[in-house]
Order: sequence, then C-alpha cells, then structure tokens
Amino acid sequence: MVIKGVVKPLKPTTIALKAPFKALIQSARLWHVRLSHISLNLLKKTALITTGMLSFQKIRPEHLACKTCDIVKMLHRPLKQPIKDPLHALG
Ligand SMILES: [Zn+2]
Repeated sequence: MVIKGVVKPLKPTTIALKAPFKALIQSARLWHVRLSHISLNLLKKTALITTGMLSFQKIRPEHLACKTCDIVKMLHRPLKQPIKDPLHALG
C-alpha cells in the first residue's frame, strides 16, 4: 500500500552521486583498511549488497593505492614448494 505524501528514504546510490569524488576515495580507503585490506572488486561487491556504504563503482585501482598491500605483495612467495630442477625451469 502506497501512502501519498510520504517521502521515500534516499538510497545509498543516490547519496554516492552527491558525495565529492575526493571524499569517495577517502571512504573507499577507509573501508579497504577496515575490511582487512580487501580487494577493490570485493569492496565494490560488498558495497552493493550492504547498506550504509557509498557506491565505489567509479573508484579505480590507482585511487586505492595502499603501501601495506604493496609490501605484502613484494613479500609473497610465488611458490610454496621448492623447484626440483631449477635449471630446467629456466630453459
Ligand atoms: Zn591495503
């Protein structure tokens, strides 16, 4: 049943369109850290299925540059097991 004259509450996507882009980037960085350095794709999906978060669809990976994530990526080992014949792997 629809009651005339009742104002509908704003959707989070409507709020996101009015937020300045710099504030949107700061919010995305804050949520990235709050959610244990979540990836940008998962952050966008989380914002879609939850309420109270801004829409981060306009955010690009370069906007979400994180020094902690860069250090962890440098320390990440590509292989967990040693290569049996390293000379063969080089060709
Ligand atoms: Zn990070």
